[in-house]
Amino acid sequence: MNKQLLKAYYDSFSTRASLCLSPGMCCCNTPIRAHSIQNSKVFDLLSVNDHLVGLKMKTERSHVPIINFESIGRNIASTFEGLCSEHDQQLFHLIDDFEFDINNEEQLFLLAYRSVLKGLHASMSKSIRIQEGYLKKCEVGLIDKNVVSNEGLYSVQCIANSCETFEYKSKLDEALVNQNYKYLTHRVFEINTDFPTIACSQLFSNDSSAYKDSCSRIIMNIFPVNNQITYAIFSSTEDEKKLTDDYLHKCINSESSLREYEISKMIIRNSENFFINPLYFKTWSELKTNKILEYFAETLYSDKDKDDVDYFLF
Ligand SMILES: [Zn+2]
Repeated sequence: MNKQLLKAYYDSFSTRASLCLSPGMCCCNTPIRAHSIQNSKVFDLLSVNDHLVGLKMKTERSHVPIINFESIGRNIASTFEGLCSEHDQQLFHLIDDFEFDINNEEQLFLLAYRSVLKGLHASMSKSIRIQEGYLKKCEVGLIDKNVVSNEGLYSVQCIANSCETFEYKSKLDEALVNQNYKYLTHRVFEINTDFPTIACSQLFSNDSSAYKDSCSRIIMNIFPVNNQITYAIFSSTEDEKKLTDDYLHKCINSESSLREYEISKMIIRNSENFFINPLYFKTWSELKTNKILEYFAETLYSDKDKDDVDYFLF
């Protein structure tokens, strides 16, 4: 492999957008590592010796990327460099410093809004990384930038996706500034647990084959509030409520462990930003771990509904 290209590949791991994404996006303060999942309350319940288990990408000797579960420090888990410390505190004071109440519209809105900020930051970082990789390949002569190529098209697609996420986020900014919390609608499911197992914060598109013509965005937040109760909250704009309910129909129309199973699959299929209680992870067999990793990898680029009892995460 070309050495210059290889260096660019490894450098790309540290390439990310770095700016404060607070409403209006005109803040010039340096962004901190903001948590997309509450560090204080949620990670207090989930962590062991200040660590959780999460997905991590590594590169093999042959430079092939592999994904695995690894121990991650709670101060790093779920973070993104997309908010300055002032805006992080100011915007999320109500969810970080007060008990969660499922009837509080503002808290529900803020939870979803934070996932959208993380999602926008991830899509911006990805489009920068892909475009830089494409330009590097042009520079070393592997791609002719004057000719249409798969790499060039993919880069354009990533930038377009990032722009769409930006538009989506801008509408949420407007709703937040106007305190129009009803702009988002929520499906809240209560899960009873023996002990907390998992937390997740994710914005995703429901691009499963059944909804190809009309893809909508869903915001998923899963977090324990104590040892016995974990909430799974799916939020969407009022306009996309019908599509979201269609996507969630198995969840809505099932109960207890069957519903928890459907929520588990939704996490594996749609999120890379989820963190597991290390004590719970210890109970997993190697087979279960591998099945979950395979399902995660299989659904990275296209959604797929598949069944296996080992996908259960609660
Ligand atoms: Zn700021």
